[in-house]
Amino acid sequence: MSTKRIAILGSTGSIGVNTLDVIRLHPERFKVVALTGATQIDRLADQCAEFNPLIAVVSDEMGALRLRKLLVEKNLATQVLSGPQALVTAITDSDCDIVMAAIVGAAGLVPALAAAQAGKRVLLANKEALVMSGDLFMQAIRSGGGELLPIDSEHNAIFQCLPEHFFKTPKTHYGVEELWLTASGGPFRDMPIVDLVKITPEQACAHPNWVMGRKISVDSATMMNKGLEVIEAFWLFGLPLEKIKVFIHPQSVVHSMVRYLDGSVLAQMGQPDMRTPIAYGLAWPDRITAGVPALSLSQMAHLSFSEPDLNQFPCLALAFSAAKAGGTAPAILNAANEVAVAAFLDDGLPYLQIPIIVEKTLSSIQSFTASSLEVILEADTKAREVARNCIRQNLL
Ligand code: NAD
Ligand code: MG
Repeated sequence: MSTKRIAILGSTGSIGVNTLDVIRLHPERFKVVALTGATQIDRLADQCAEFNPLIAVVSDEMGALRLRKLLVEKNLATQVLSGPQALVTAITDSDCDIVMAAIVGAAGLVPALAAAQAGKRVLLANKEALVMSGDLFMQAIRSGGGELLPIDSEHNAIFQCLPEHFFKTPKTHYGVEELWLTASGGPFRDMPIVDLVKITPEQACAHPNWVMGRKISVDSATMMNKGLEVIEAFWLFGLPLEKIKVFIHPQSVVHSMVRYLDGSVLAQMGQPDMRTPIAYGLAWPDRITAGVPALSLSQMAHLSFSEPDLNQFPCLALAFSAAKAGGTAPAILNAANEVAVAAFLDDGLPYLQIPIIVEKTLSSIQSFTASSLEVILEADTKAREVARNCIRQNLL
């Protein structure tokens, strides 16, 4: 077995740290060659000290200066770079085999696309990249000759429930009738809408089952996360939108399912722990230990499933309509959501304004065919401007 060389985009985040946890268990299989973070310099320095990568990347030159100083003190020869273009360099110049794409939001699109174009095995956690540029991204995977393995737990579950040859001839679907994405429903699943008025960032980030970064935690509370995941599933698996269904499953034990035409439904179950899909992506088609405790069926009280109420979760309805509209609409949805969530987390935008900002932005920008990266990034920039203006008016 040859050692695989790994680059981790976003190594200081929740997925990045979980990835290093799995890699730490398998030093004979994996060698870390590039690590990147935005501003958590001390954490990145500690990761470099432990894994000794060739390249480390941070957001700006100030951070790079600090990281270089820390690494000199630790006697490390890691090359330290900064800025968005350096994220691409980390992939092209580290001779990596596998790229974990775990930057949050649109900032992760360009380096994830570069990994696809370079023919790497891409472990995709950064769902926003696929939401923004699905068609382009899937084309890049095909023309680059690499592999795309979904890390998002639902998509990883579906990947595990599909036959291996499913991806080789995408026109025939091997009896696959529907994809069933499960959703916990987040911390406010059963809360009356009137009580959501005063929700704080701390309440929104306290997910009942998963420990995740702040942006995806808010997305899980609004269920925008599930909306983004429907779009992600559409591009990954190539089924029509109406064959992708969402079920609320508060226990987060069944991570998603595939319904076949013969009446079979295949489900993947496990602990709500991202190290399982990460280990699967890293070693596929092998399975390796992930540090995750076994699931205990006898300790489970019951499993329940229900359809989501779109009035309770307007973000999910907005994502469905952007998915249906296609073109740059999902990129506009995503950008407006990123801006609104950041304003909720940092600037006091009321929780219930998040879907309103997204809706206003979507309805005031025309959607075009997502024909190139430039068109997509232009839609992203424009949507951010419009969303920021809406928020300014709201907070006046
Ligand atoms: P996080 O906030 O914990 O980490 C984000 C990482 O991205 C950090 O390393 C941060 O330094 C880096 N980053 C942020 N902005 C950046 C920028 N402008 N330029 C360069 N780097 C930047 O987020 P997370 O929870 O680890 O999520 C990462 C991605 O994985 C998201 O797209 C999320 O939707 C997806 N995902 C996460 C989970 C989970 O359990 N955390 C599950 C499924 C999917
Ligand atoms: Mg998910």
